[in-house]
Parts: sequence; C-alpha cells; structure tokens
Amino acid sequence: MLKDVIHIMPKGEALTNTNMLFENAMSHAIAYRQDVATSKPRPVVQAEVLDQKLCSATPERGEDASKVIDELVQAATPGLMGVTGGRFFGWVIGGSHPAGVAADWLASAWGQNAGNFHCSPSAAMSEKAVSGWLLDILNLDRGCSVGFVTGATMANFTCLAAARSEVLSRVGWNVEEDGLNGAPPITVYIGADAHTTVLNGLQYLGLGRKRVTTIPTNDQGQMCAASLAEHLQVTAGPKIVIAQAGQINTGAIDPFTEIVAACHSTGAWLHVDGAFGLWANACPSTRAMCENIEKADSWSVDGHKWLQLPYDSGFAIVRHPAAHRRAMNITASYLPETKGSEYQASQYVPELSRRARGFAAWALIKTIGREGIINMIERHCSFAKSVDQALNTVSGIRVINKVVLNQLIIRFGDSDLATQTVIKTIQERNNVFVEGGMWREEKVMRISIISGETKDSDIDLLINEIKDCWKQTNLKQTNSRKGN
Ligand SMILES: *Cc1c(COP(=O)(O)O)cnc(C)c1O
Repeated sequence: MLKDVIHIMPKGEALTNTNMLFENAMSHAIAYRQDVATSKPRPVVQAEVLDQKLCSATPERGEDASKVIDELVQAATPGLMGVTGGRFFGWVIGGSHPAGVAADWLASAWGQNAGNFHCSPSAAMSEKAVSGWLLDILNLDRGCSVGFVTGATMANFTCLAAARSEVLSRVGWNVEEDGLNGAPPITVYIGADAHTTVLNGLQYLGLGRKRVTTIPTNDQGQMCAASLAEHLQVTAGPKIVIAQAGQINTGAIDPFTEIVAACHSTGAWLHVDGAFGLWANACPSTRAMCENIEKADSWSVDGHKWLQLPYDSGFAIVRHPAAHRRAMNITASYLPETKGSEYQASQYVPELSRRARGFAAWALIKTIGREGIINMIERHCSFAKSVDQALNTVSGIRVINKVVLNQLIIRFGDSDLATQTVIKTIQERNNVFVEGGMWREEKVMRISIISGETKDSDIDLLINEIKDCWKQTNLKQTNSRKGN
C-alpha cells in the first residue's frame, strides 16, 4: 500500500516528507507537555489575537505541511488551556494521559474507520476488549453492551434511546419504525440537580426537555428516593427514571438502593448519568456509596474525564443489548454481514463512520491497569478531603458540600461579591485555575480534582492560593468598609 502512495509522488520524497512532518508534530507535542507542567494554566489571550492568527483568508494554494504545523503551533499555543498540567481545577476535565495520547496518534496515523467490523477488524475487536475490561473495572454485569461515543452527552442520548425503545416495545410500540407520533406517552423522572446534558438527550429524542417530572433533591443534590417511589406508584404506562452518580458541584451520588427498588417494583427503566461519578463504583473506598448501582438498566460514563483518555471519549453502557442495538440500528446493502465471533461495535453508537476510540482506551487501561485507576481516583478523593480540611480551619471560608468524591464548592465571607473576587484574583494570578458556578442561588467557587497529573505539591499550591487570595480580598473589603 505504501508503494502505491509513493508512486503518485516523486520517488522517496513523500516518505521523507511524511517522516519529517510527523517528527515535527511530535517534537511540538513533547515540548508542549513539558512546558504545561510549569506554565500558567489559564490562556491569557484576546479572541482578536487568535482571530488574526487563525482566521486568515481562505487558503487558495497549498503550502509545506511541516511549515503549516509550525504556524498552527505558534498561532494556537497562546489559546490553549493547561488541562494536561496538574494545576487545572476548573471543570470536570481529565488530563489526557500520555499512554492514551500515544495510541490515539496511531489511531489517526492508521486512519481506521471504526464504523464496521470489515472496515477495521482491529478497531472493532479493541472496542470489544475494552468493553469487557470496563465492565469488569466498573463492577457492572459482563453481559452489558458498550457503545464508544464522544462523551457523556452522547452516552446519555444513546442510553436514553435504548430506554425509549425498550419501554415502548414492552407496550407493543415500535418507536424505531413508527416514531413517536401516536405512541403511548412516556413519563420521564429526573432529579432536580441533574446535569444539563441529560435534558439534551431528551430534547434530541423527542421526549422534551420540559416534559419531565422533576424529583426534589436534598442539600447535596441527591434525588429524594421516597418522592420518586410515590410518583412511580401512581403513574401507569412506560416510565424512565434518570438518576445520577457524581453531581457536578457536590460530587454526590444518588441513593441507588431505594431508587433501584422503586424502579424495579414499577417497571421503570433506570438510567444513571455517571459521567465521572460511576468510577466511584470501581474503588473499594468509595463503592459503598454506589450500592446497587449495578442493578440499573443503563449508565453513561466518560473516558475523557476520570479515566484520562484523550478527547473525545465516552461510553454508553446498557444492560439490554437487544434494546441498545435496536435503538442504534443502521442497515445498508453495502455493509457486509457479521459472522462468527466478529464484533460489530457500530451497533451500539449513533454514528456509522467514526474514530477508532478503542485503541487509546486499550493502551491506557493496559498501561495503568485496574490498580492504577483505583489509586488515581482514591488519590483525587483524598486530595479533595485535604483541601476541605485545610480550608475549613480558615475563618470566612466555608466548604458548602459534604466532600464525598473529588468535587468542592466554596463560599467566601458568605457573599457573592467576596466569592467572585477570590475567584477573579486566583485567575489573575494564574498559578492554578479554578472557576465559579451557582449553587442554591449563591455564587460558589468550584474545584474539581481530576487530572492524573495533579500531585501533592499542586494541592499545596491550590490551598495556599485560595487562602492568600481570600486574605487579600477580605482585607480590601474590611478597609473599604472602614473607609465608608
Ligand atoms: C461532564 C458531564 C456530562 C457531559 O459530558 P460530556 O463528556 O461533556 O459530554 C454529563 N453529566 C455529568 C454528570 C457530567 O459531569
């Protein structure tokens, strides 16, 4: 095959150019990853500057690819967020572990289309292998099916499509063939502190963002199981319940023992959005919080969050493979049939042509193993507890949530202004990156400890930055009050 490529180019030149191009990109990547460990995490760049560099006139004539890569690096680097370093705590974003990145380069270089077994047998079988490993590590039933999608948003969509298919099929309605017009109505129950992307899933599936029954939550954002049970008992017809493992602000995990019991006794499909929190079920120290989560009907979990896979990566896991396949079914006369032990990974995802995500996951999981995953998650949870303890001794700082996983929400001086000022000061100093958010109508600082690169020294720095910036803010406010 390589011979064919060389034929259409001047002999030898194509290969040499490709070598140089790949080596160039690799050396830029190595330099960046070395740099990110010590550089400022937040990109300090105006959109206008990036606009000028990146949004030039339409290229009419080609240029040397290696020079283009140089130009891309030069133009894009100032606008990169330091998520692969250890001092990014802003959102729930993983750090793209080098083992996954290296395999992902190969996935690109190999140019495989994971759309069909025959199109890339190895892409398909690597997804089969990783599916089994994931189910094992996450302590879920090995009979579940797994779809390799772009993230938890698409995983929620895929799982909810399977849910929709199954609950309607049980009342004799074929939603894949006949659509939703005239279908028996589905009642959807969702916790009041669900992630917004679950609503997107409902939006895409014609189930409606607003056409849900919202179940109240407690001060940690956990669904009230008693309220859910009451609702389920009085509602007839097809039902879907959407629960959550890992609330994005508090990290809280819903009470699954009660939720599972309520769903099972009333025939409701239970979906779990576990984008990052489902990993708690992999670890001895956090597993008790997830008790009975394995009895749900479907789960979404991200690869690019706690598992540290490069973007984009998420997994749609379904207990009922037939419903999963029915919901995602693609047929075409030109697609060869699947035979024997051939694994048809595309039966579990919405796309046909897509990236071979199995390679990166295969290499990463083999590199760190179950043990490495557990150690990392437990380390992050213990870091979160250290931050909680260190800050709770400081007067005027209040950690709002019960720190059960890797998430903290923090108030300063019990005012929105003080909290906003501390966040802004930390961002301006740019030694660590934190962000804000709202919790129960109040401004909070949000901290997610989720990067595989985060070390003890990064946590010390984070604590010191927070304390220092609070001290500064507090002093300024006290002085200005005196001034009045
Ligand atoms: C991040 C997140 C999502 C969305 O995941 P993407 O990977 O961004 O698509 C959904 N639910 C929860 C709880 C999350 O934390």
